[in-house]
Amino acid sequence: MSEREYEIVVDAVYCKGCGLCVEFCPQGKFSLAEEPNKHGVRVAVVDPDVRCTGCRQCAMICPDAAVRICRLVPAGGDAGPPAGSETAKT
Ligand code: SF4
Ligand code: SF4
Repeated sequence: MSEREYEIVVDAVYCKGCGLCVEFCPQGKFSLAEEPNKHGVRVAVVDPDVRCTGCRQCAMICPDAAVRICRLVPAGGDAGPPAGSETAKT
């Protein structure tokens, strides 16, 4: 069976740039944008080259529910759960 793959989406509208996801992701998938947005916030960005294990720490620690974890079904995939996204927001 294939390992599951995950995609992380940060909702820039809600992100306040606190950096908790940067600190807590064990994979180092997050960083803060070099430049602030029009509100003066350096929002969190994800590195697509860093593998996400789906541990959910980022979504749990984010105080603004700005992190969404999408589980991807591999092409030609296994007979796992149906395709779609899992929203870690509460
Ligand atoms: S789910 Fe885990 S590994 Fe994936 S980005 Fe969040 S903290 Fe990092
Ligand atoms: S923890 Fe949430 S609010 Fe803080 S930088 Fe990360 S995505 Fe943005």
